[in-house]
Amino acid sequence: MPLPVFADWYGDARAMMGTEVSVYLWSDDSASGEALLEEVFQEAARIDRLMSTYRDDSEISKINRLAAESDTAVGDELYQLIAKSLQISVLTDGAFDITYDSVGQHFDFRARQRPDEQTIASELQYIDFRHLLLDDERQTIRFRKDGVRINLGGIAKGHVVERGIHLLRSKGVRHAIVTAGGDSRLLGDRRGRPWMVGVRDPRKDGEVAISVPLEEEAISTSGDYERYFDEDGVRFHHIIHPATGTSVSGVHSATVMGPDAVMTDALSTSVFVMGVDKGLRLIATLPDYESIVIDADGQVFYSDGLQKPQKPVAQ
Ligand code: ADP
Ligand code: MG
Repeated sequence: MPLPVFADWYGDARAMMGTEVSVYLWSDDSASGEALLEEVFQEAARIDRLMSTYRDDSEISKINRLAAESDTAVGDELYQLIAKSLQISVLTDGAFDITYDSVGQHFDFRARQRPDEQTIASELQYIDFRHLLLDDERQTIRFRKDGVRINLGGIAKGHVVERGIHLLRSKGVRHAIVTAGGDSRLLGDRRGRPWMVGVRDPRKDGEVAISVPLEEEAISTSGDYERYFDEDGVRFHHIIHPATGTSVSGVHSATVMGPDAVMTDALSTSVFVMGVDKGLRLIATLPDYESIVIDADGQVFYSDGLQKPQKPVAQ
């Protein structure tokens, strides 16, 4: 059967959510191909309006203003994502913690600003996911202490790409990739071939360290090269250890693959915080998820379910 004249790949990328959101899909109709791209960007913009702490009028900013004083009602979508974040905090022994933001808010990577020791010492007491009280029946949230703040930066982009793919699938699309920063969700394959998703070399801009063939899956990478500045040889970056309030060292990037982008997003941040040994041990307990970690020496580690790429044998 001949393909319709407009059967083709359609793609676009936009600066959003402090990063780049991109969509690439196969459609057999140019008009709907373009319209579908637009719908995914609109969906990302909607989620950003709900979940961005940079907007005073977002629902999350409202929670941060009110939840220390009273039980605060939360819409279903945000409530579910906060509840999921808490489950992941339990799963990761507190490595993933959306309350990191009491210290995190004092970083401004573009302005090369970071909290001083005194600020960290006074804000650290507010980092603890147990400070959040959720009432599932009433769908309300309450902070145990005034000073607690939440930020979904470690999970919201996974939600965006998961929702974007859901939208495309519901419109009949069968081959697509939606990416937000370091998080990608794939729909189907690349028409007969797997998608090839690159894990960036954490120290060589624009270079790919490892290429992974994937279909119908999600892949997220957390790196210390996304938002950072260097000062006297020390890298200050956006992944914060909840126990110390400082940028995590020891790992340059952590990648997680699996069926759900919300999980891969949160888990990549978690593995980054937990480090090679603890991080890969956690992944080994999750049968659907695999991980690739690049440590501070540039050494690459794979979870058990992944086969190491075979080095070409010298002839
Ligand atoms: P990216 O934003 O580049 O995709 P990540 O998925 O690793 O990278 O998310 C990093 C973001 O997660 C940070 O910018 C911050 O908003 C948030 N974050 C930082 N530390 C933690 C932590 N320990 N637990 C949960 N979220 C965190
Ligand atoms: Mg993440």
